[in-house]
Amino acid sequence: MTVYAFPGQPDSLVSFKSRYEHYIGGEWVPPVKGQYFENITPITGQTFCEVARGTAEDIEAALDAAHAAAPAWGKTSPAERSLVLNKIADRMEQNLEMIAVAETWDNGKAVRETLNADIPLAIDHFRYFAGAIRAQEGNLSQIDEDTVAYHFHEPLGVVGQIIPWNFPILMAVWKLAPALAAGNAIVLKPAEQTPASIMVLFDLIGDLLPPGVVNIVNGFGAEAGKPLASNPRIRKIAFTGETTTGRLIMQYASENIIPVTLELGGKSPNIFFDDVAAKDDAFWDKAQEGFTMFALNQGEVCTCPSRALIQESFADDFLEKVVARTELIKRGNPLDTDTMIGAQASNDQFEKIKSYLDIGRQEGAKVLTGGGVDDLGGEFAGGYYIQPTIFRGDNSMRIFQEEIFGPVVSATTFTDFDDAIRIANDTLYGLGAGVWSRDGGTAYRAGRAIQAGRVWVNNYHAYPAHAAFGGYKSSGIGRENHLMMLDHYQQTKNLLWSY
Ligand code: NAD
Repeated sequence: MTVYAFPGQPDSLVSFKSRYEHYIGGEWVPPVKGQYFENITPITGQTFCEVARGTAEDIEAALDAAHAAAPAWGKTSPAERSLVLNKIADRMEQNLEMIAVAETWDNGKAVRETLNADIPLAIDHFRYFAGAIRAQEGNLSQIDEDTVAYHFHEPLGVVGQIIPWNFPILMAVWKLAPALAAGNAIVLKPAEQTPASIMVLFDLIGDLLPPGVVNIVNGFGAEAGKPLASNPRIRKIAFTGETTTGRLIMQYASENIIPVTLELGGKSPNIFFDDVAAKDDAFWDKAQEGFTMFALNQGEVCTCPSRALIQESFADDFLEKVVARTELIKRGNPLDTDTMIGAQASNDQFEKIKSYLDIGRQEGAKVLTGGGVDDLGGEFAGGYYIQPTIFRGDNSMRIFQEEIFGPVVSATTFTDFDDAIRIANDTLYGLGAGVWSRDGGTAYRAGRAIQAGRVWVNNYHAYPAHAAFGGYKSSGIGRENHLMMLDHYQQTKNLLWSY
């Protein structure tokens, strides 16, 4: 067990600056209007730094820098860009603990996650796209005896990226790595709730990129996000966030006729067929563990398995087991590597989750465990802690239909296969899903029938760089990760050549 010191304490691995500016053209640049906002750690509820409050003027400055850098960066070879991405990965790996602590302090999530999952995954995404871009080739086809078609991959130029607060560094890297590998210059806007860890990251890796290739403008959605997403000087906008914001992003993009990728909300079903209970063995244990994944990252995951669908015939027994297991989830100091669940990322999110705990009760759902806030006392008294909560109710309830984005699962039962698929698909969303069955045929048929871009079968919450990720229905447009992500950041040029 390791307990990391709070930033600000003498033996902390991280020293945050008291003030963060924008990162433009390889330099720290103050906001044109001179305004800053306070950044709070959800661990204690205290302000720990202030951050530049960007406006349209800052976005224009960042776009100037990106446009100045894009032509030269776009002409580098895949091998050169691959080298840069690998160097970034190496530098991050050498500083893994420091980055993990910074991410935990900014977002509130448990350090065991940032240390073992978020940051290692971010590193691997840089390595994956460093390799992918070298493996990508154009092609040549013969059209007729005298004519050939050459296909080339070209960068789009300058692209905009807007990310949320639930995985600040990982979400940034999911977007940066493929865009950089493909040869684009970028203006990225972090979420206003969690800007600091990305600033720490760019303090660390900024010198590895030519100035202006990545520019970061901080600030709020309406003030900095909109002028970026609606700007005619970008050739693409990539967005992760709420479905309602995604609709706006599409409207802005339509004005400029540029492509969008949207990674939006979810209300993912996690389906447990009764054969999982056939034996008291490792699989039975793994399925129970799979249920508790709703609390991972404090439930602030777009693919949070927030609806548990359990076959009626074994539901009471299963729920009794998973309630006991949920109560073993270790809560406490997020900077303690034994802690399994940390603080919610912001006070707004904390209040939103509390309101859904009330809504669930008002709708008549039964609280099987949790249902309230967690008062950790002492220096954590001002932090945002929620008890992992299991509701039992019906799929028509708001707690089954609306994204809560907290450690809250709504459980219900189904009778047979068709009933399970009907309930699973009875949602606006289609991002993630889980299927648990010992029977390959059942699992396969369920996996194919669920309308979601990612279905985990007999596991949950793995995000490898080489597996495509994205949503059906209101969960988004396009895919992230996987080789196919490069297509989202490139133009295809065809030269049709007659000899
Ligand atoms: P949000 O939409 O409020 O904000 C996301 C980002 O958009 C922030 O940087 C914000 O400043 C910016 N923004 C807000 N309004 C804007 C506007 N009008 N124009 C341009 N930018 C604007 O979402 P959030 O609350 O930060 O994030 C949580 C949501 O993100 C959840 O719905 C979650 O499911 C979703 N999410 C999805 C994925 C995925 O891959 N599908 C991953 C993580 C989070």
